[in-house]
Amino acid sequence: MTKKTAKDKNHFNQGLLDFLKDSPTAFHAVANMTKRLQENDFIALDETQSWSLKPGGKYIVTRNQSSLIAFTLDSQKNNTAFRLIGSHTDSPGLRLKPNAEITFRNLIQTGTETYGGLLMAPWFDRDLSLAGRIYFEDANSQIHTELVDLKKPLAIIPSLAIHLDREVNQNKSINPQKELIPLWAVKMQEGIKNQDKEYNFKDLLLQALQRQLTEKKIKKLLSHELYLYDTQAPSYLGWNDDFIASARLDNLLSCYIAMETLVAESKSNALIVCNDHEEVGSNSAIGADGSFLKDVLERIYPEREALIRSIQQSMLISCDNGHAIHPNYPEKHDPQHSPLLNAGPIIKVNANQRYASNGETEAAFVAICEKNKIPYQRFVVRSDMACGSTIGPITAAKLGIKTLDVGVPSLGMHSIREMVGSQDAYFLYQALQEFFSSNGHQK
Ligand code: ZN
Repeated sequence: MTKKTAKDKNHFNQGLLDFLKDSPTAFHAVANMTKRLQENDFIALDETQSWSLKPGGKYIVTRNQSSLIAFTLDSQKNNTAFRLIGSHTDSPGLRLKPNAEITFRNLIQTGTETYGGLLMAPWFDRDLSLAGRIYFEDANSQIHTELVDLKKPLAIIPSLAIHLDREVNQNKSINPQKELIPLWAVKMQEGIKNQDKEYNFKDLLLQALQRQLTEKKIKKLLSHELYLYDTQAPSYLGWNDDFIASARLDNLLSCYIAMETLVAESKSNALIVCNDHEEVGSNSAIGADGSFLKDVLERIYPEREALIRSIQQSMLISCDNGHAIHPNYPEKHDPQHSPLLNAGPIIKVNANQRYASNGETEAAFVAICEKNKIPYQRFVVRSDMACGSTIGPITAAKLGIKTLDVGVPSLGMHSIREMVGSQDAYFLYQALQEFFSSNGHQK
């Protein structure tokens, strides 16, 4: 992505497709967001150093390379209210186990660990690659870390043929320990001699990683956080390009919207927070239930009373994809609250606080949409079903900040290939620009 302000819808959507493709893991998403923001004059801060923040300044902070906060400060010091947008960088998937190699006869496979609540069935029969973060020692025993993305299709989890399981279409359950075991290589053809090399996964992985790093030599791989991903590129879909299909739309779509909103409309106190670990409950040093956002806000307002006053004047919009009504399963929605694709962002409401929206925050968003003719919808889960949740209520509880939960309607959430309408991300982007510009400061 180049230095630009995303304005028209095609340009905006193309940026989204590029961002999804270039961000196979939360680490890559944060690296790409950092790059985009730096190209737009944001300065990276280091949490281990002292900061001197200036009115009118633009800053980025990352933690663990997988959570990001970026903010702009009003040039007028007396405005202490913030407008915040939250989202999450992680998506459900499969991670390589530390001692990954499994050999079956002449085949090389690897053990995987499930991350988050993934739909398992769509992981079969895909051309998978590997990406993530590694730590290694070089020849001088120095420890380095690098992000890697092998890009090439390297592995597959083959289905069992229907001929060997005639009941499969009536009755299929998946055991991830036994069945989500990708296949990488033929080790050695049994019975054939004078094959010059016997492969093992560790060596194949090391060679592939070394090819990624042109300047550094890996003497010893110390640790890895590597995730499998589908190499099929994100794409428009449908007769009229009505849809966008991709992995990780939940929730890189919202990270992208948050980032572009901050780039386009950041003249006042505005902040975006993109947390890792939402899909596993947010309870970590980098998750929404951790200290990251609070720590950053405390450094913007070191004096406790000023901090509390700022938080109480501020508002967070937590963005995470929601569920559009599925035409094949309409009974899964409340008939009066069943969002449609390409009909605008969803305001998520839950009396039991699974979403943090309240009357005040809902009204603020509705007023923005009505004033700017942006369509919007409302979602309430069926009263006989459990409701999902997201970073909104967690951040609201942690900080005591008034919060709204919204999201773009999607289908196939947590599949390896999810989909959204091709109009909705832009609608939410427009609404969020208005939200940021509503912070008591002239454009
Ligand atoms: Zn999500």
